[in-house]
Amino acid sequence: MDRQGAHTYDRINVAIDGPAGAGKSTVARLVARKLSYIYVDTGAMYRAITWYLLREGIPSEEHATVDRMVHEMQIELIPGEDVQRVLINGEDATPHIRSLQVSGQVSQYSKIEGVRTLLSQLQRQMALRKGVVMDGRDIGTTVLPDAEVKIFMTASVEERALRRYKELKDTETVTLQQLEHDIAARDRLDEGREISPLRRAEDAVLLDTTKMDIDQVVEAIVSHCRTFVNGERNHS
Ligand code: C5P
Repeated sequence: MDRQGAHTYDRINVAIDGPAGAGKSTVARLVARKLSYIYVDTGAMYRAITWYLLREGIPSEEHATVDRMVHEMQIELIPGEDVQRVLINGEDATPHIRSLQVSGQVSQYSKIEGVRTLLSQLQRQMALRKGVVMDGRDIGTTVLPDAEVKIFMTASVEERALRRYKELKDTETVTLQQLEHDIAARDRLDEGREISPLRRAEDAVLLDTTKMDIDQVVEAIVSHCRTFVNGERNHS
């Protein structure tokens, strides 16, 4: 037991991948809390870079400029209980990264090789000491191919759009149909890109959450982690 009374586990890394709006970040944060692990939201890093470059007026077509600018950027991730903050050159990008504008553009910036190489390196460094729950699109396949537990979380497009709609309806003028369209378009770009596209790692557990609530999904993943750790203990 640790000081909060939660169980502590032998430290492993947990990779959670899946398409937009599958609920990965909510679930990954809760899993990390239950295991007393650190949660890393890699989508927030791609979003923060996108927000910054859009504000600086750098179009995603200008690969060489994007490449140079991201390599000159200072990108910091500050873990927190509820919100993980992302700072770009010391400036807090967090309040801006969920806007429709950033959501609409992020896949165009995230397909650029220099962006992916840099962020993957940073993400690997964060996981070196284990005890990390990381969510994204390419964690199980590319960033942490040796993660002890890999989950591929999905849900129908309609269900994912509905979940996003509930999150956004108070702050953005948006319809459910538009969100369905945007999410399907983002899926196509993320699955179709050349470098580390969204896909399930062969050894990832597939979790279709369409008919599951958050607690059930969290419990399924935590129990999978426990089974893995206990199995390792019994073997050692
Ligand atoms: O997870 P989230 O929806 O916030 O991710 C936003 C976008 O960032 C994705 O649609 C994808 O284009 C990009 N992304 C990525 N690789 C990751 C995480 C996110 O390409 N590991």
